[in-house]
Amino acid sequence: MAKKNYKEALTDQIFHTIAEAAAMLSVDCYVIGGFVRDLLLERGVPKDIDIVAVGSGISLAKKVASLSPGKPEVTVFKNFGTAMLKISDKEVEFVGARKESYNRDSRKPIVENGTLEDDQKRRDFTINALALSLNKNNYGDLLDPFQGVEDLGKKLIKTPLEPGVTYSDDPLRMLRAIRFSSQLGFKIETKSLKAIEENKSRINIISKERIVDELHKILLSEKPSVGFGLLLKTGLLDFILPELVALQGIEEIEGQKHKDNFWHTLEVVDNISEYTDDLWLRWAALLHDIGKAPTKRYDKKLGWTFHAHEFVGAKMVYKIFKRLRMPLNEKMKFVQKMVLMSSRPIVLAEDFVTDSAVRRLIFDAGEFVDDLMTLCEADITTKNPKKKKKYKNNFKLVRQKIEEVEARDHVRNFQPPVSGEEIMKTFNLPPSREIGLIKDAIKEAILEGEIPNEYEAAKAFMIKKAEEMGLTQ
Ligand code: ATP
Repeated sequence: MAKKNYKEALTDQIFHTIAEAAAMLSVDCYVIGGFVRDLLLERGVPKDIDIVAVGSGISLAKKVASLSPGKPEVTVFKNFGTAMLKISDKEVEFVGARKESYNRDSRKPIVENGTLEDDQKRRDFTINALALSLNKNNYGDLLDPFQGVEDLGKKLIKTPLEPGVTYSDDPLRMLRAIRFSSQLGFKIETKSLKAIEENKSRINIISKERIVDELHKILLSEKPSVGFGLLLKTGLLDFILPELVALQGIEEIEGQKHKDNFWHTLEVVDNISEYTDDLWLRWAALLHDIGKAPTKRYDKKLGWTFHAHEFVGAKMVYKIFKRLRMPLNEKMKFVQKMVLMSSRPIVLAEDFVTDSAVRRLIFDAGEFVDDLMTLCEADITTKNPKKKKKYKNNFKLVRQKIEEVEARDHVRNFQPPVSGEEIMKTFNLPPSREIGLIKDAIKEAILEGEIPNEYEAAKAFMIKKAEEMGLTQ
């Protein structure tokens, strides 16, 4: 069969420069991996280009740089035998073709120089082992020794070698398989899935940073439930986020059931993903019910309760972020805040919506009130169409009210209209408990709607309050 040729996809000057540099050094070279996969899937023009040279990747990178306008800097990773160049908006990575063998305790292989096919064999999946030639005699030819194109057509994730060996050699590939499945909507071959189940505990040799990197990518995919469902099914989730696994299952006592909070959570994550690409808001959706497992109780009168699960959940967010070596910065605080407040608008949506309840919500959520509303709307997973409609309508009302109240009262980034200093000066008082009490009373009066969020009204209220407290003789 004639080789497929994709030279029309390799017209960018960068490919011609690489081809010219390779010819000058008399080495063969190929575009390989994600670029070719995404090209054939028509996923848009990828920004990252991986080049494999049958020879030294570093020398090729240097030669390419010397032939490129502006002579870009080459970043060399000597330990890995790779080099990287940035040309216009593209990142190009160069590696020499290699043959790898592994020992059991590390992801670090023993590396020797190899042929193109040796290099394709060490790739994780057949769809990632596709290569396009940049050589003069067959420029653009597709080299596909493991039938990757067929697997692209079948939407299948499959390893070039025996899956047990592939995953045991480098357990990160288990997460990559699941991540690609979630990103591309592909199925993982049954044999491969079984091998992942068998090798799951080897995930322990992978650094937390790499694991989190893959979790981020799964969360950012169109339907993250695909990835998280597979993480549960293969048992990998027990090693990564056991707190989520603990949400799985339905218990029944005296005929009363609660919902399966694991699958509910995944539904919420999928829902929110239709409205936002914000990674941290998606994390908030993933963790919004995380406190439900440790707080679950059965009460004869109340049925199933998850008392204070939001509070417990917010504390768990910190522990999870710390264990996974995720940033303990304002991103974590944002996720905590979302988890802590995740039931607040729901209470509003179930009930009559008062101005003061909305004001309190805006005050407590501050700049994140819109994110909180997005989370809560995604949280509607009831299968009862009547209830669903009612909640959606009420949320619309809450959103409207938020806009009205916000336009009128500006409580989103609340600054007290009368400062503590002014209170001290007016009543000639030193810093004391009384000052705090008056300030709080003013804030409460504004949030309750007793007075508007304005200076004159707040000042009059301050004087009245001070009189009541006997501070004015
Ligand atoms: P994306 O950019 O979406 O992550 P990609 O396939 O380009 O996709 P990279 O991590 O940039 O992913 O890897 C580039 C190529 O290197 C892959 O296509 C694959 O051929 C190979 N590769 C990456 N990681 C591994 C691994 N752990 N084991 C085997 N091959 C790998």
